[in-house]
Amino acid sequence: MEDSQLVTTVANDYTVMRVSNSSSANRMTAMTTGAKDNVIWETDSYYQLRYGGWTLKENVTTSREILPPNVVTTATGFATSRTTAIRWKLPYFPAYTVRQLEDAFEITLYRTTDPQNRILLARNPLFLTATGRRSGENMVYTFPYKPGASLNGFSLSYEAGTLTLAFRNPSPLEEGSLPLAGKTILLDPGHGGGDPGATGPLGSLGDTEDDLSLRVGLKLRDKLEALGAAVIMTREDGDTVISLAERAALIRSARPIMAISLHHNSIDYSGDIGNTFGALTLYSEPLSAPLAASVQEELVKATGAQDRGASFQGLAVCRVYDCPSILVELGFITNPYEYENLAAESYIIKEAEGITNGILKYLGGEK
Ligand SMILES: [Zn+2]
Repeated sequence: MEDSQLVTTVANDYTVMRVSNSSSANRMTAMTTGAKDNVIWETDSYYQLRYGGWTLKENVTTSREILPPNVVTTATGFATSRTTAIRWKLPYFPAYTVRQLEDAFEITLYRTTDPQNRILLARNPLFLTATGRRSGENMVYTFPYKPGASLNGFSLSYEAGTLTLAFRNPSPLEEGSLPLAGKTILLDPGHGGGDPGATGPLGSLGDTEDDLSLRVGLKLRDKLEALGAAVIMTREDGDTVISLAERAALIRSARPIMAISLHHNSIDYSGDIGNTFGALTLYSEPLSAPLAASVQEELVKATGAQDRGASFQGLAVCRVYDCPSILVELGFITNPYEYENLAAESYIIKEAEGITNGILKYLGGEK
């Protein structure tokens, strides 16, 4: 008889997985509640799992069991208006990693076999085909995009023997005067609740970063609502205390079609404050890059701000797979000239217009 082994089960969604046992080690795909794997090594605070990832012990529960051979019995794909989903029937939720490629989505299910190596994929707006191939003891499934299609967000869940990989379908603009009707957008004005963020040249005599980010957020909310969107705000006043983790959790649970965090940049006042200015948009997942580029381009066009581009940065609020999530650094609060703009109502209106145009352009498919 085979001896039972130490098995971990992921206890929380977005459990961080790393390539080694250090909080500075590179991240692997964050894993969803219920995924199981064997422990092959442990340190005081980390487990190394058989598929290769390391995780903090506090993120998983453990049991002594023998994982059965994970053989796929059926794999099917279907689509509703909002979702394209793939469903595998298999004995347990295995460890997995995903790759967001330029022309395809790829998922590896570790220690899994699929005798049929293919997925019956119904008519859907995202993928041309779905194919599986064996790679060692794992299954790699590849979903090449249709021309013009790209990743808008995805999530995994496992229930009653079925693993579901759900992709968000594109949300095209509605005809008429309410192009954003039926769409939920989450806005996240940074800081607040006693955390002022960066301070401008006037110190506490003028608006600080939290004040300015809220002013832009409220203006943007009004514009988006006027176009039919349902807007969720992480805060709507100066007093609400909300942590970065709570903001990210809200992005995941509220299921918006996109999330936009609003911040203002700064440098140390001993630096070259007079020559450091401009707007910048950040993202932390490849799927968010097209929205970041679109918003950055239209923001700069509307405001005339110096274009510092759209770029990748690992940010707690943007490490989200469910939808595109970006963080806009609207300008340098430490630059006295730019601050004058950033604090002016007329400029804030332009910022809200620019971001709105970027959202419309992104959803309109002009990527
Ligand atoms: Zn900030």
